[in-house]
Amino acid sequence: MDFNDGYVMTIGGKAVAGTATIEVVNPATGEVFATAPDCSKEQLDEAVAAADKAFKSWRDTPIAERQVMVSRAADLLEAHADELARLFTREQGRPVDAAREEIAGAAVWMKAVAQMEPPVHVSEDSETQFIETRYVPLGVVCAIAPWNFPVNLAMWKVAPALVAGNTMVLKPSPFTPLCTLKIGEIFNEVFPEGVFNVISGGDALGPMMTAHPGFAKISFTGSTATGKRVMESAAKDLKRLTLELGGNDASIVFPDVDLDAVAQSIFMAAFYNTAQICVATKRLYVHEDVYDGLRDRLAALAGVVKVGDGAEQGTVLGPIQNKRQYDRVMALLEDAKSSGLTLIQGAAVPGGAGYFVPVTIVDNPPEDSRVVQEEAFGPILPMLKFSDVDDVIERANASEYGLGGTVWSADTKKAMDVARRLETGTVWVNQFLNLRPDTPFAGRKNSGFGVENGLEGLLEYMAPQAVYVAKS
Ligand code: NAD
Repeated sequence: MDFNDGYVMTIGGKAVAGTATIEVVNPATGEVFATAPDCSKEQLDEAVAAADKAFKSWRDTPIAERQVMVSRAADLLEAHADELARLFTREQGRPVDAAREEIAGAAVWMKAVAQMEPPVHVSEDSETQFIETRYVPLGVVCAIAPWNFPVNLAMWKVAPALVAGNTMVLKPSPFTPLCTLKIGEIFNEVFPEGVFNVISGGDALGPMMTAHPGFAKISFTGSTATGKRVMESAAKDLKRLTLELGGNDASIVFPDVDLDAVAQSIFMAAFYNTAQICVATKRLYVHEDVYDGLRDRLAALAGVVKVGDGAEQGTVLGPIQNKRQYDRVMALLEDAKSSGLTLIQGAAVPGGAGYFVPVTIVDNPPEDSRVVQEEAFGPILPMLKFSDVDDVIERANASEYGLGGTVWSADTKKAMDVARRLETGTVWVNQFLNLRPDTPFAGRKNSGFGVENGLEGLLEYMAPQAVYVAKS
């Protein structure tokens, strides 16, 4: 398989070119380096019809066989991780080693999900009747993925949906379609035709999918604004819905921490993947006794971090993934500057047409400034002072979002108590960005609707079916 060319959709087990194309840009150079198919309405109809036809037999395939196939698909993903990682860097911007980690990690994730099974609950088994609740698949799943973790977040949907017995039409972001299209071709070796379809297209394709009556469920990861549009569209025929949306995670640092150690961790929690992570640290609340010490350590790390083309050796942080997001981040930075906020900027970034932004720490801005209230999704970290525990918890919770949060303290019990009071689906204590396939991931408030991962995540792709059997 040529990973540098020939990007096609996978529809009903066949490689399908688009009737039109979209351009794919390398964010490190700003140049178009490939094109991907732009799926037409007719091709979407074909994909849904193929998935619907395949559903009838996939649903009746024993779960053990479906698990084996998902696990074999994961093996193939791992086997192609090197070629995919190089392509990933060109379309997404992240350094190659970190790109490979995502792809290999997605394979591990799929294998773990392939071990999962829905429960069966017997409520009565008497002389007169037998009653059980079992879980059955829903039908054709519409999966829509974002550009920040294009492979991993797509596989979070593929593995449980297919293990559960559904079929799928997956759409990657128009900014990062290429790895996903290749994965469609790779998985075609494993899954029966029509079980796993991959289509790509421009801004019109997402709404076309969510309005399509052939889908039983939509699983969407992306921004809160788009998630609300998806929910509106799904309401027309009450499609089942999982929405993994934005976040504005608070991280709270108590004065008893080892500053040198936590500075390293907090730097990566805030800036890994150039801060384009839904659960990145986006508001850093630091106790006033250690504020200056932590700020100076973070500034020192920002001063030496290598920001550049992910294809170059030694690069730690790549560019912002796309021009639209770059413009948003730059506008936020301009707003911070024109509001007179104090910015501490890190190492110089490459000039030219790439979408590079220097690592930026905003020194104790007002709580109501845009840089605190909005999800930056770029390397701008507001640091804020606190002195009182109740006050910092209230400020951390005063957000439309409720995705994740972190507490740093040598007193684990106190940190766990604080964590319990954070209104978020995930909390970390003295660690960051650790997620597992067997543990539910769910956003509260405007961060989401429903659950991914864990048994709860698997069951989001199924419906309970209560069976009442008379014995006499
Ligand atoms: P986005 O909402 O712009 O796009 C996400 C996907 O939706 C893309 O595939 C896009 O083509 C598609 N889309 C756009 N408009 C649509 C519409 N009207 N109907 C249906 N689909 C449509 O998001 P993004 O910029 O790609 O991703 C960044 C956002 O995603 C951030 O807010 C981030 O926090 C969030 N995110 C959340 C999680 C999570 O698990 N909670 C994970 C990663 C990213």
